[in-house]
Amino acid sequence: LISARGISKAFGKVEVLHGVSLDVHAGQVVCVIGPSGSGKTTLLRCMALLESPSKGEVVFNDTVIADAAGSRAASQAARAIRPEIGLVFQHFNLWPHMTVLGNVIEAPMRVRGLPRAEATTKAMALLEKVGMADKADRYPARLSGGQQQRVAIARALAMNPSVIMFDEATSALDPELRQEVLQVMRQLAQEGMTMLVVTHEMGFARSVGDRLVFMDQGRIVEDTDPESFFTAPSSDRAVRFLRQIQ
Ligand code: ATP
Repeated sequence: LISARGISKAFGKVEVLHGVSLDVHAGQVVCVIGPSGSGKTTLLRCMALLESPSKGEVVFNDTVIADAAGSRAASQAARAIRPEIGLVFQHFNLWPHMTVLGNVIEAPMRVRGLPRAEATTKAMALLEKVGMADKADRYPARLSGGQQQRVAIARALAMNPSVIMFDEATSALDPELRQEVLQVMRQLAQEGMTMLVVTHEMGFARSVGDRLVFMDQGRIVEDTDPESFFTAPSSDRAVRFLRQIQ
């Protein structure tokens, strides 16, 4: 569905991704883990079209949507494809001046041109799904972090994306609030949503991920099934990483 092909990314003179390739297939949950600074977020941001690669390209269903040259064809394709990519960040990024419902209906109305009534019906169904329907009229500031993140997930889903990318979606939350967000993510995975999940939640990666990608120093070191990774990692770096987090 969406692939990174030989992506490098430099900030100034420092290259932080070195020729990374990753295919996310439809219906798969791909979890990306690795030490701090290994390039997980940068890879996700390149695939989400939030950063442009210095080398390589991002491909969505055989169409190049980002390349190092920033070609006109790729930027045009990116404009069309961007709504297909749902994003959930570490910090919830809800619009503070809008209610929960307002946050969820805004993009479908503006970008997809949905009439308000239709957007509202759909938004309420999504808020129901993430357990937030009873808070539809509240403003984000009056919600807990976990509740805000569940609204952020509903907001991403409201665009009917083909894939949702989560960038450390639970890292800013207290442990007791993490589970409610992970539960919603688990449910989405079970429903067959295509997901790219950068996470520090090893339990989630192990039990929910279809594939486990381990990054270190700007490279993918292992791309395997989660059970093999956690029981028998094949690289020394993964062995050291797992030892450190246990
Ligand atoms: P963490 O788990 O701590 O979030 P990560 O694996 O997601 O780490 P990245 O955030 O992708 O790692 O960062 C990779 C490297 O790129 C780091 O050394 C970081 O300092 C650097 N970096 C990331 N974004 C920028 C930027 N906008 N400008 C300069 N350097 C950056």
